[in-house]
Amino acid sequence: MDFTLPPEIEDIRVRTRVFIAEHVLPLEADPANFDPHENIRLDVLAPAQAKAKAAGLWAPQTPKDYGGMGLPVVGWAAMYEEANRSIFGPVALNCAAPDDGNMNLLAQVGTPEQKDKWLRPIVDGKVRSSFVMTEPAPGGGSDPGMIRTRAEPRNDRYIVSGRKWFITGAGEASHFILIARTSDEPRRGLTAFMFHKDQPGWRIVRRIPIMGPEEHGGHCELEFDGLEIPAENVLMQVGDGLRATQIRLGPARLTHCMRWLGLAKRCMEIAQEYVERREGFGIKLADRESVQIKLGEVAKEISIGRLLVMHAAWLLDAGSRARKEVSMAKVQVADTLHLASDVAIQLNGARGYSKDTVLEWIYRYARQARLVDGASEVHAMVLARLMREEGPEFWRWGVE
Ligand SMILES: Cc1cc2nc3c(=O)[nH]c(=O)nc-3n(C[C@H](O)[C@H](O)[C@H](O)COP(=O)(O)OP(=O)(O)OC[C@H]3O[C@@H](n4cnc5c(N)ncnc54)[C@H](O)[C@@H]3O)c2cc1C
Repeated sequence: MDFTLPPEIEDIRVRTRVFIAEHVLPLEADPANFDPHENIRLDVLAPAQAKAKAAGLWAPQTPKDYGGMGLPVVGWAAMYEEANRSIFGPVALNCAAPDDGNMNLLAQVGTPEQKDKWLRPIVDGKVRSSFVMTEPAPGGGSDPGMIRTRAEPRNDRYIVSGRKWFITGAGEASHFILIARTSDEPRRGLTAFMFHKDQPGWRIVRRIPIMGPEEHGGHCELEFDGLEIPAENVLMQVGDGLRATQIRLGPARLTHCMRWLGLAKRCMEIAQEYVERREGFGIKLADRESVQIKLGEVAKEISIGRLLVMHAAWLLDAGSRARKEVSMAKVQVADTLHLASDVAIQLNGARGYSKDTVLEWIYRYARQARLVDGASEVHAMVLARLMREEGPEFWRWGVE
């Protein structure tokens, strides 16, 4: 067993680290570069993205034919973690959610025509995208089988009506992937569609105010009232909506983890820098055993998360769906991000609670990690279900 990164991926990892240090961390350090929703201002982002493209650090998850880096998932893991050393990093390198998951899904299942129309502009950074699935109660949330938004066939098109919410990026997106009900069949009742923001028949009801900083375009509630989608904009086949969701969400959950590991490491970096220089009661904080225990505990949790993420990435590269490994990584890394930001704030004292560092930003952002792309309880349920189904085989080594 060899845990060494292949040299070409190690090279990309190091280049990403240098790029973030030279071109992104300085932007993050200036409060003037933040928009009203605590993300990087779009006019500041554009030149940073141009530099990332020029450096060849752009859209790692997308095939080279479509303008990405075409890295294996293991390569994403190494690069995303370095990218999110800065809170602005992923969006600067076009590997932020939800675009990265949408690009990956379109690259995997789109027809050549669909890829040219819907994928290429996202990879080029010309448009943004959203994934439209979750509904307010009593519609589909944790349980996609409860999705109520309907797409009724009429001649050569589908007419959509219903309501969705928490749609990340919808306020800025042009390309939307919609999951809607086309029949009441339990496994094949959902279908994935593409639509463009300029089509009539839908609207943003509101940008939902949230506790943390926001992705560009916020988290929006949408209403569909007669949106017409031509049959050519069905993604995969009618009835494949659940499959499309699974193809998108497995890797997308893992890329969240990759980014969160970068943020957790950044928390440790800020904490370590402070405890090395702060003295109290005659010694440096860094020399206190109770402080060391706190830091060591977080280091261990980050390491567990990295191993789970790399294992799942390796399985995805080998063609597995890595269902249990992704679920384990998601729960572990979401908790680790909470722990890392909490410990780092504590060790920084009052400074940790201020906006002089990004710790409070990360702390507020972290709370969504136990909810997005499947609440932690739902991932635990999936794991228990698989243990029951697979018996001792649950623990096998190798690829399914
Ligand atoms: C910041 C943010 C961004 C998001 N972005 C998007 C997006 O871009 N597109 C999109 O479609 N959706 C998005 N979502 C929605 C997200 O995927 C859902 O919130 C998530 O799947 C949970 O669904 P729900 O909110 O309806 O929770 P519910 O299904 O109402 O569940 C509520 C709670 O009940 C508990 N629970 C549920 N099921 C179980 C179970 N089986 N066992 C034990 N406990 C359970 C959990 O604690 C859960 O948190 C986003 C959410 C957030 C917070």
